[in-house]
Amino acid sequence: MLDLINRSRPLGGPAERAVVLPRTVTPITGEQLSSYLPRLARANHLTLAEVLAVLPPWFATKVNNPDELAQHHMLAPATTGALSALARLARTTPQRLAGALPAFGATHTRGPVRATTACHLCTARRGVGEPIPVHLPVHLKVCTRHGIWLSDTGQPNLDVTACPDIIAAQHRINRLLRQCTPQQLIYAHESALAAITPWPATQDAIPLHWRHRLPALQTLNHHRGLSTDHDAYTRAAKFPDAIALVPEILSARENEQDLMARSP
Ligand SMILES: [Zn+2]
Repeated sequence: MLDLINRSRPLGGPAERAVVLPRTVTPITGEQLSSYLPRLARANHLTLAEVLAVLPPWFATKVNNPDELAQHHMLAPATTGALSALARLARTTPQRLAGALPAFGATHTRGPVRATTACHLCTARRGVGEPIPVHLPVHLKVCTRHGIWLSDTGQPNLDVTACPDIIAAQHRINRLLRQCTPQQLIYAHESALAAITPWPATQDAIPLHWRHRLPALQTLNHHRGLSTDHDAYTRAAKFPDAIALVPEILSARENEQDLMARSP
């Protein structure tokens, strides 16, 4: 049964009735709408269809689109109205929703984003026990507060607290972003990853720091019940080495651009 509170508008207002949900749900930073709306529905003992039925059709179109970040020109004009309607229904402010949910296209995130899963310790602090799919900046690889490696969707997030150099590398990225754009940084990071030699065939040929880092990550996460054969382990293990190469790649590229600008 639909268990909603119907509140009449103040006297003298329009005759329409605003529907509000009794239980509020705080959105997680970067949360996908296709996660937030079902959470809001469940918290209020409703189905997603029941929640969508009292929202503008903008929402049904968005959650049925595999890419909810696409700002389609037909939907864009209705975005502000949709945001206000959800804020009213969920008893929050449009600013809070727009700042957290990228589907509204107004999170002020710098640079491209990627799909990942929110750090489970960050969400646990908000009382959320389930995995939350989010879109976060591509250059954000680690929750530095909890030492959690944020893998691409489909791979498990890893506990990297055994490798403080991985957490330090994320801090280094944050500092580098004062000097370059996220796009320049992503390009330099990918170039650096390509420059790091592939995983050697024999154990003896594995550099000492990798030999320590990879088993440390695998052991720690195996204890959390995760299998140890994901690409995420090697990406996380290579991360400090790749980020160490980034400043050099950035300055080489800057010199290249200077030379091109000066050439007749
Ligand atoms: Zn966290």
